[in-house]
Amino acid sequence: MLTAQVTTIKGVGEKVNEDLELMGIYTVEDLLYYFPYRYDVHEIKPVSELIHDDQVTLIGQVVYEPTVSYFGHKKSRLMFTVNVEGIAIKAVMFNRAFAKKQLPAGTDVTLTGKWDAHRLQITVSEYKLGVTNDDAEIKTYYSVKGKLSAYRLKMFIKEAIQKYETKLKETLPDIYIKKYKLPTLNEAIIWMHFPTSELHLKQARRRFVYEELLTFQIKMQLLRKVSRESEYGEGIALEHKKVEKFIGSLPYELTRAQNRSLKEIFHDLTSPYRMNRLLQGDVGSGKTVIAAIALYAVVCSGKQGALMVPTEILAEQHYTSLKRMFNDKLEIGLLTGSTTAKERRELLAQLIAGEIDILLGTHALIQEGVDFKDLGLVIIDEQHRFGVEQRRVLREKGLHPDTLFMTATPIPRTLSITAFGDMDISIIDELPEGRKETETFWVGENMLERILIFIKKRIAAGEQAFVVSPLIEESENFDYQNAIDLYNQLRTYYPEEIGIGLLHGRLKQDEKDDVMSKFIENKIQIIVATTVIEVGVNVPNATMMLIYNAERFGLSQLHQLRGRVGRGDKQSYCILIAEPKGEVGRERMKIMTETTDGFKLSEEDLKLRGPGDVLGKKQSGLPEFKVADIIHDYGALETARVDAIEIVENNLLETNPEYKILNEVVSKNQFLETKLD
Ligand code: ADP
Ligand code: MG
Repeated sequence: MLTAQVTTIKGVGEKVNEDLELMGIYTVEDLLYYFPYRYDVHEIKPVSELIHDDQVTLIGQVVYEPTVSYFGHKKSRLMFTVNVEGIAIKAVMFNRAFAKKQLPAGTDVTLTGKWDAHRLQITVSEYKLGVTNDDAEIKTYYSVKGKLSAYRLKMFIKEAIQKYETKLKETLPDIYIKKYKLPTLNEAIIWMHFPTSELHLKQARRRFVYEELLTFQIKMQLLRKVSRESEYGEGIALEHKKVEKFIGSLPYELTRAQNRSLKEIFHDLTSPYRMNRLLQGDVGSGKTVIAAIALYAVVCSGKQGALMVPTEILAEQHYTSLKRMFNDKLEIGLLTGSTTAKERRELLAQLIAGEIDILLGTHALIQEGVDFKDLGLVIIDEQHRFGVEQRRVLREKGLHPDTLFMTATPIPRTLSITAFGDMDISIIDELPEGRKETETFWVGENMLERILIFIKKRIAAGEQAFVVSPLIEESENFDYQNAIDLYNQLRTYYPEEIGIGLLHGRLKQDEKDDVMSKFIENKIQIIVATTVIEVGVNVPNATMMLIYNAERFGLSQLHQLRGRVGRGDKQSYCILIAEPKGEVGRERMKIMTETTDGFKLSEEDLKLRGPGDVLGKKQSGLPEFKVADIIHDYGALETARVDAIEIVENNLLETNPEYKILNEVVSKNQFLETKLD
């Protein structure tokens, strides 16, 4: 059995077992799946094709016995001649005088090392006696712990393969193996550990990438199915006429992307499935309107809606704009931390009686005692600001209401179908027409004085500015000190009549709200802040965003910050102060000045800095894959997703015996524990 302890392998004793455990290897199966983390492929090429200074591998026969010369302290040089394809090649090896005995004339050798094309000479870093028939020399690298050497580990793996080879059960149904021309599990395991050619290695890797992504996507699709179907009755009957009329009453036409997203949302609302949808769209792309229309539709069909936002200020802003949009025709309740006990009691009574159509609020919405009469739709704005637990509680308020999550963080598809693969996704990928693009500049610190003067001028003209303080890498907790320092500097620089506020993570929510309110009312003209600047808050009069140390921020983050300005009809500016060191850093700043497309920027971020920077380190929700790399293996991810959807929709795991083992693998797999609620 593959589940046998590793100690059943010859040579694995107490000590080795301890080291293996450190590496997470307990069973024979674990051992077989413990793949190298890196491979060096030295293709064996004809001498005429070898490139000067490259690492190369040669196969030949020793012509003259090696000579050894000594120099310096305990240093030696061993030289010999080899015949490679009839050409005499000189081989040099340092400090391995002992090899002389192994290399008498006539010995077949495989040599790897640095090639000198001018002298037809190889400086050998590795040699092997005998010739390989393979067309490549592939070196494997395993990460090992304790006293165990990679060499011994490989011997144990070899032993395990010999002993258990016949017991490996193919996990993938035959049709996928045929369809994608994948090697069998058996072959693939052997080739991962003992690749004899680059092609085999590629194929083995391709197989495990596919298998890993397929099982992962199946899991996601199973979750999606469970959440869609959980005890939900029929969908709402959409009051088309009323909804159309409401849309017609808006002062603008919806964009194509808005219409498409709306159609997808209506589809969910009217279907018997529970909606579990993520609406992605850049800041200002018009998500709030979509939310309003969806809420309106639900209310027209006799149900209630809820809109949850991360901060009180945002709740109040939404309250005002929804009231205006609905022209006071709907009953909207506002529930936040500062609602008085008496107001709250009245509100909750109205809510359960069905006299309130839409309840809007912060996480006060999910407290005990907030009960709806008939909750049909929950919308969560800026979803990344809410913890998984809060989202779950909210969802449980209604029977199983349709749920729409909204986010202004554009997430590249490869990440979203991985981290949010259990959700349906709608994307608003265009901005309403006629927006003035925020102009972005990248400058060095020497320009600071001129920028401060520029800001002063714009303030004199009645506009306002955000100033984001430098970031201390990896230590959010200390950033507030930087903000305070910067605040003090600006305070001494600017005259008293310019009001300056300070925002950082150490302030309490009501203190933050107080600063924001003053800014909204233009009682203060500059806010100095760490990155805690409230998401989603709309201050159309703010036209300037100055960011210190911009090179330290992710592109998506810079883009989010930039989205705080450019919300009115005045021309806005984003100024990045940055002195990036390398080429990549300069490239990133340049991209910021060239595009305002959030999706493009997050794709770049993903390429340049990796998934953690795009999704946020804390709850990135990304599974750890053994072999697959969602950026590199994006194509396979899409393929696996399509197959997974088909498998789950047709119930193949339970009904088709071909899928039995795959089913076992899926239920055993633990990728997702951290993410799922
Ligand atoms: P988001 O929530 O995605 O950041 P909002 O819904 O707040 O964006 O919209 C930003 C602004 O654009 C609002 O003032 C809104 O009235 C306006 N708006 C939304 N959709 C359109 C549209 N299709 N055409 C013109 N203006 C629009
Ligand atoms: Mg919004």
